[in-house]
Amino acid sequence: MSAVSRLVFSDDLAALVRRRAAAGGVDYPVRRRASIKDVVESLGVPHTEVYSIEAHGRARDFAWLLEPGCRVLIRGAEPPVDVTRPSLLRPRPLAGIRFVVDENVARLAPLLRLVGLDAEYDRAWRDERIAGRALEAGRVVLSRDRALLKRSAVVYGRLVRSARPWDQLVEVLGLFGLLRPPGLLGRCLRCNLELARVDKSEVMDRLEPKTKKYYDQFYICPGCGRVYWRGSHCERMLARLKRAGVRVGP
Ligand SMILES: [Zn+2]
Repeated sequence: MSAVSRLVFSDDLAALVRRRAAAGGVDYPVRRRASIKDVVESLGVPHTEVYSIEAHGRARDFAWLLEPGCRVLIRGAEPPVDVTRPSLLRPRPLAGIRFVVDENVARLAPLLRLVGLDAEYDRAWRDERIAGRALEAGRVVLSRDRALLKRSAVVYGRLVRSARPWDQLVEVLGLFGLLRPPGLLGRCLRCNLELARVDKSEVMDRLEPKTKKYYDQFYICPGCGRVYWRGSHCERMLARLKRAGVRVGP
């Protein structure tokens, strides 16, 4: 039996593999007992990007030990990914979709909040803290750092492929089936806290004359006190999202 196994990656994962692939896959010399998770990650693909592993006609989990002379099919995400459903690779699902955002995709945080999604971000948090938040609070890690996503505390994550923030937003929404996100003015863009309705009379003294004249519904952040309303800037953002295929709720 050959000591080499062939690892065949789906196209989205093949683009991440850091080794010249032979046509139809990567020939991997099996020299030691190693889990498929370790092998795949040694080739540069974080486990968060892998959604199914098949060998000898059977689905395998991350702990499966790669055997020599084997052909292994490794597939990436097939959107929409539902993090609330258990799978062979991720038997413990999340209670809901919530994110923790790494510094290298920091601008994603306010964009996710803009469409009403829970996205934690703190520029002071290093990898260990982000991975800790993912584990304790059941959050999906968004990052362009493969080393962070390879951490075992990170169960759900996305190696963000797009470079521009708005493209990154659409990428993440599409992947997790969120192209109809909750809605504008759900969360504070700065703090990620849920906004509360506030009476116009309570914020009157803080509004510009035109805002006073044309708007009647206001929201306030319980953390930083910033006041929000559905002004023309909101309409412009909605139009931009719509062009990107995102239909924001009411
Ligand atoms: Zn705030």
